[in-house]
Amino acid sequence: MRFHYTFPFVLTISVVFLTLILSGCASRSTISKKPAKKMPVVKHPVKKTLPRKGHVLVLEYHKVVKKEARWDRSIDRFCKDLHLLYDQGFRPITMSEYISGNFDSYSVVQKGNWWEPPVMHFLERPAIKGIPPGTKPVVITFDDSHPSQLRLLADGSVDPDCAVGIWERFAAKHPDFPVKATFYVLPEMMWGQKKWRHQKLRILKDWGCELGSHTMNHSNLQHLSNEQVKKEFAHSIRFIEKLGFTANTIALPYGVAPRNRYLLRGFKLDGKWYGFKAAVLGGAGPAPLPSSKRFEPFRIPRVQGINGFLGINYWLRKVKYGKLRIYTTSKTRPL
Ligand SMILES: [Zn+2]
Repeated sequence: MRFHYTFPFVLTISVVFLTLILSGCASRSTISKKPAKKMPVVKHPVKKTLPRKGHVLVLEYHKVVKKEARWDRSIDRFCKDLHLLYDQGFRPITMSEYISGNFDSYSVVQKGNWWEPPVMHFLERPAIKGIPPGTKPVVITFDDSHPSQLRLLADGSVDPDCAVGIWERFAAKHPDFPVKATFYVLPEMMWGQKKWRHQKLRILKDWGCELGSHTMNHSNLQHLSNEQVKKEFAHSIRFIEKLGFTANTIALPYGVAPRNRYLLRGFKLDGKWYGFKAAVLGGAGPAPLPSSKRFEPFRIPRVQGINGFLGINYWLRKVKYGKLRIYTTSKTRPL
């Protein structure tokens, strides 16, 4: 009797179990047959002199304010970051310089002509291209164009307590660490103080900083249709163009790429071509050299300007103790 009650039960369980296994295998095999949707390999005009091995630090900051928080860097710690970077031999480059690999050719170009009176503040500053021999490249990026990054005082001078102001003071004492940042801006924010926008942009341009796209509305791109993503990209590229800059790169909001990642490379909208040369993510490690086989231009990792695990101090400690090899320009290269 016992056999008659249990057999159908065992049989049913076995059939259900077997069906589950088979369906699982079947679905897995169908997935594996599909070609993996990978981004095509982009050939960059990277200098052949660059080695394949070695890393570059791409730092990510948001707000620079009095008190340290998850996404905020305190003024004190930002100042310390600059000192630490400088002491370990880092020198700033822009995101465009990094992806082109052209940070290797150091040169100082005096702006303006000798017959022009130095009445304009920006004419007096030399433009520094690349980084000096024997130093390490660092890309310092700021997301969201929060007012704490760049604020002007009533007289039009840079507030010494905003990120750019802190860096400007540091650069005055360390001329080989000029203010050279990449700002991933949001049109709605643009550091506030609308009346000073033009002046701020002129200062940044003069110092060799660059702007990049952070989209128009900071939406999670996974949740948008292709048409919406195209508008987010194209409108922000056009916005930055109107400010007199070129948006070569984009910082993906929340580090999330659109469902159709090919849109990052380029697309046509209203008869015009739009696209980026590279995209940066939210974290959480050093980036390979653009000459490396592991370099993926649309998945460039960044290191967050925070304390703790995988933050700036974590990686700088590794550099200090020789556990992370950051690319260093040749010491013997002639100036
Ligand atoms: Zn953001």
